Amino acid sequence: MEKIQSVKELIEKYKTGAFTVTEYIQGLLEESKEKNKDLNAYITITEDLALETAKRLDQKLKNKEELGALFGVPISIKDNIAIENVKMTCASKMLEDFVPPYQASLVDKILAQDGVIIGKTNMDEFAMGSDTKHSYFGVTKNPLNTELVAGGSSGGAAASVAMDSCLLAVGTDTGGSVRQPACFCGLPGMKPTYGSISRSGVASMANTFDQPGVIGKNLEDIRLLFDVMEGSDPKDATALGNQAFKKLEDMDLSSMKIALVDCQMDMDMDEDIKKAYEKVVEALRTKGAQVDRVESKNIQYGIIVYHILVNGEVAPNLSRYDGLRYGHRTEDFDNVNEMFIKSRSEGFGNEVKRRIMVGTHILSLDLAKEYYEKALQVRHGIIDDFDKIFKDYDVVLSPTYPVKPYRIDESLSPVEIYQSDLCTVPVNIAGLPALTIPYPLGNGLSMGLQVTANRFKDDLCLSYGKVLEGMVKNEL
Ligand code: GLN
Repeated sequence: MEKIQSVKELIEKYKTGAFTVTEYIQGLLEESKEKNKDLNAYITITEDLALETAKRLDQKLKNKEELGALFGVPISIKDNIAIENVKMTCASKMLEDFVPPYQASLVDKILAQDGVIIGKTNMDEFAMGSDTKHSYFGVTKNPLNTELVAGGSSGGAAASVAMDSCLLAVGTDTGGSVRQPACFCGLPGMKPTYGSISRSGVASMANTFDQPGVIGKNLEDIRLLFDVMEGSDPKDATALGNQAFKKLEDMDLSSMKIALVDCQMDMDMDEDIKKAYEKVVEALRTKGAQVDRVESKNIQYGIIVYHILVNGEVAPNLSRYDGLRYGHRTEDFDNVNEMFIKSRSEGFGNEVKRRIMVGTHILSLDLAKEYYEKALQVRHGIIDDFDKIFKDYDVVLSPTYPVKPYRIDESLSPVEIYQSDLCTVPVNIAGLPALTIPYPLGNGLSMGLQVTANRFKDDLCLSYGKVLEGMVKNEL
């Protein structure tokens, strides 16, 4: 099938009658079902829903009705985001058979703008992880090289775009889960300011960190989908909306002010990534941008703060999966307490159990003061550090992730994997917008260039991202 590179190109093709929506979507579904057997990017392919939508859209085009901003655009949805009457598993045995009777507000918005939902993508169980190895349904392979992981937790989302089964993928990002898999699969991706998009119908991992994000083929498509999804929502009091996804201004390189944070520069990093990153910084300086190394007191504690606070939210958020209100129920039990314990023991995988245990432990009465309260203080310290940086600079630039996609059969300890999140998690701790742009490493793989901006400066973040996107295209 013909490879389409942007939303604009696809809609143009529909309008000029190159093919109908049904023809295009049908072809895509056939191909995707085949590829998915090997790659495992989707838990569910929503064939009926996609074809029904396509048929309706063809009718719309025929009747010369006004077309939505996402007219006929194939989009995948991570399997922790609810679509009414479509199985939503969160990649867990706990929700293996769960069919939500409700729908995420962001899905309503996509459908209202004529988007076509292709399927529900694979992920680490309840979004906890960095490589999709913690999915109850098996790992997602990286379409760039099937011996490598696709990243996580939104590994299926990134793979769904990289395997050309859709143009855009909606994932969730609590500590990097959109940006890191995008980077592993050689794609751009973005997590917007906390509160830009409603979390109604999105299964909570850590609700003060979680935010839906998007992976696509270019930043312009990503911006468009954010513009469709943003907005306040009576079903989510933390959703404020965000007007910063409207059209973007062009940016002039000589007016760019970029900060590099000391602890992120000095962290252990893959040699190729370090070299590539330094090359980009050099190129920016040569072209007249101001790029300075800045000090930060608290960002270095990002990983510790993240795991204390996130797990402190994970434990209560996942208490609803007890076999009574939600989820898998054990077959054999004598009393209700035993039912809870056995259902949860059987339903959750190891990584989820680890985080619930850590969260419960730190929230216990005598430890909460020692750990949780201190971590909250450092969270504020990290926010202050960023506020200070953004007084003098527009954005922070860092690698998205310090290591390359690793082999599926490589075994890394949880702590080794957690350590690699030092560039991604501070962004969620402070509720900031950040995006990743792929920069090729020369072996078919890419590293990610992460641009972080101040809260609700998503437009600035995207403008900087677009300059980098252009520079990468022109080989800097
Ligand atoms: N790698 C991070 C973690 O394991 C990211 C999770 C996320 O953003 N959902 O916690």
